Amino acid sequence: MNGRVETIPCVNPGTGEVFAEIPVATQEQIERAHREMKAAAAIWGRKPVEERIRILRKLQKMIIDSTDTITEVINKDTGKSRQDALIEIFMLVDRMHQYFRRAPKWLAPRRVPPGLYVFRRFYTKPQPFGVVAVICPWNYPFELSMSPMYSALLAGNTVLLKPSEATGALGQLIEQLIQSVPELSPFVRVLHGDGRVGAALVESEPDLVFLTGSVETGKRVAQAASRSLTPYLFELGGKDPMIVLEDADVPAAARWGTWSAFYNSGQTCVSIERCYVHEAVYDEFVREAVEQVKQLRVGYSPDIDNDFDLAPMTFTRQIEIIRDHLDDAVAKGARILIGGGIEGMIVKPTIVVNVDHTMKLMREETFGPILAIMKVRDEQEALRLANDSSFGLGASIWSADLRRAELLGEKLAVGSVNINDATAHYAVSLLPYGGMKESGAARTHGKEEVLQFTQLQSFAVSGPPLPFDLATIMRQPNHYRLAKGIMRLAFGETPRQRAEPIIEEVDRLRSKGPGPILALAGALLSLAALLLARWQRGR
Ligand code: NAD
Repeated sequence: MNGRVETIPCVNPGTGEVFAEIPVATQEQIERAHREMKAAAAIWGRKPVEERIRILRKLQKMIIDSTDTITEVINKDTGKSRQDALIEIFMLVDRMHQYFRRAPKWLAPRRVPPGLYVFRRFYTKPQPFGVVAVICPWNYPFELSMSPMYSALLAGNTVLLKPSEATGALGQLIEQLIQSVPELSPFVRVLHGDGRVGAALVESEPDLVFLTGSVETGKRVAQAASRSLTPYLFELGGKDPMIVLEDADVPAAARWGTWSAFYNSGQTCVSIERCYVHEAVYDEFVREAVEQVKQLRVGYSPDIDNDFDLAPMTFTRQIEIIRDHLDDAVAKGARILIGGGIEGMIVKPTIVVNVDHTMKLMREETFGPILAIMKVRDEQEALRLANDSSFGLGASIWSADLRRAELLGEKLAVGSVNINDATAHYAVSLLPYGGMKESGAARTHGKEEVLQFTQLQSFAVSGPPLPFDLATIMRQPNHYRLAKGIMRLAFGETPRQRAEPIIEEVDRLRSKGPGPILALAGALLSLAALLLARWQRGR
C-alpha cells in the first residue's frame, strides 16, 4: 500500500484459476480520492434530487444492458451460478426502480406542527453527510456494494467505494460501469484492496462509514471511527434461528428451511443456521430435511444453464471456520446426519443434530451450508434458545396459527421475522431490513435505507418576532403567572386544571391597567389559532 504497486489475485473458486490481478490502492490514492470526493460533494449535494435520479437511471440502464457480463464476472469471482448472480442484479434494479419513484418524496422537506408557536413555520430537511465510505463484503458482492452506493448518492453524498478483496474483479467491473456514465463518475471513487485499504479509508475521516461485514471488522471500524467521532452504520453477521412449532406444515418447513440454510452455500447473512423444532414434529422434520438435502447437487459451472443447487465456497477463510465449527460440535457430542465432507472449496450440505449451546455451531456465525437442528419441549424453550445469541439479524417461525407466530416473533430480538417462510423477506424492496444486537443497526431496503445517509436539519422560520407571539412574551420578565396559566390552559388534564389559573390571572391583571391584559389576549389568540389549525388538520 505504500509506494510499490501491490496486486491481489482473483481466483475462480470453481476452477482454482487465477483470472485477474487487481492493483491495491495506495495511501496517496486514498487521500486523493477523499479530497476529490470532498470537493465534489458540494456539487452533487446541491443538484435537485430529480436530477440525481436522472443521472442514476443511466447507471441503472447500463447495469441492465450489462447483465450477462456482470453475472459472468460474479460467477468467476464467487463460484456461484449465473442464475444466483442474476438474482443480485434483479434485487438491485427492483429496489432502485422503487427508490427512483419515491425518493423525491422521502427527501423533501417535512412540515412540523408548530405547537403553541403558531406565528412561525417549522420543517425538517434531510441533508447529505458529504463523503460516505461504503465498505463491502464478498457474499453478494454486486448487490451489497451497489445498493448502499446508490442510496448514499440518491441522498446527495459522494461515495468512496471499497469492494471486497475476495471479489476484486467484480470491484473493477463496478468501477467501469460507474465510469461509463460520465455525469456520475466525478462523484464516486472505487478503491480496491483488502482490510488495510478499508482501515485507511476509515482513518481518512469520511463523513460517514457504511460497513457490511463481520462483527470483528465492525468492532475494528468502530474503534478507529471513534477516535475522530466519525459516524458509522453497520450491517454485520447473523446466526438466524428457525422455530418449527407442533402445528407447522412440516414438509414445507423442511423444504424452505433447508433452502434458506443452503442457498448460496450458506454464505448469506440471513441464512437459517440453527433450527429449534418442537418434539412432537422433530422426527418428521429431521427426516424431511435429510430427504431435501439428498437431492441437492453441488458443483461449479460458468454456463447460464446448469443444474447445480450449490456452488463451491467463495473464500478459503470460510472453509477453516466451517471445519472448526463441525469438529468442535462433533467433539462435544453432535452427530452429522448427512454431509460433513469438505473437498477443496466444496463443502457438502450438512445436517447436524444432538447440538447444544456450548458448541460454536450454535453460537458463532458459520456462514456455510450447515444446518444444526435441536429438539425443544415447547414454544418457550424455542424462544429462549433463539434469543440466546449475540446476533439479531433475522428469524423464521413455522405455525398454522399466524397470530401465535406473529406474537412469538415480537418476542424475538431480531430485525426481521419470516412467518412460514425463510429469508424471503429480503427480496421485498421497501421492507426495511437490518439487525439488532451485534448484527448492527443499519437498515437497507425502503426509505430507511436512503434516509440513513442523511442528517436531519431543522428550520424555524418567522418574520420579525411579533409582540403577541408566545415566543416573544415568554422572553420578557414578569410573566411567570401568565406562562403558568397558558401551560395549564393548553395542557391541563381536566377542565378545572385548564380554567382556574386564567380566571385568577384575569382578576389579578384587571387591577394593573390594559398592558398585561393585551399580552394575555395575545397569548389566548395564539392558543385559539392553534386550536383552529388543529381542527382544520383533523378534518
Ligand atoms: P469482513 O468483515 O471480513 O470484510 C468486510 C469488508 O471490510 C471487506 O471489504 C474488508 O476488506 C473490509 N475490512 C476488513 N478489515 C477492515 C478494517 N480493519 N477496516 C475497514 N475495513 C475492513 O466480512 P466478509 O467476510 O467480507 O463478509 C462476510 C460477513 O459479512 C459475514 O459476517 C456476513 O454475515 C456479513 N454480512 C452481513 C450482511 C447484512 O446485511 N447484515 C450482509 C452480507 C454480509
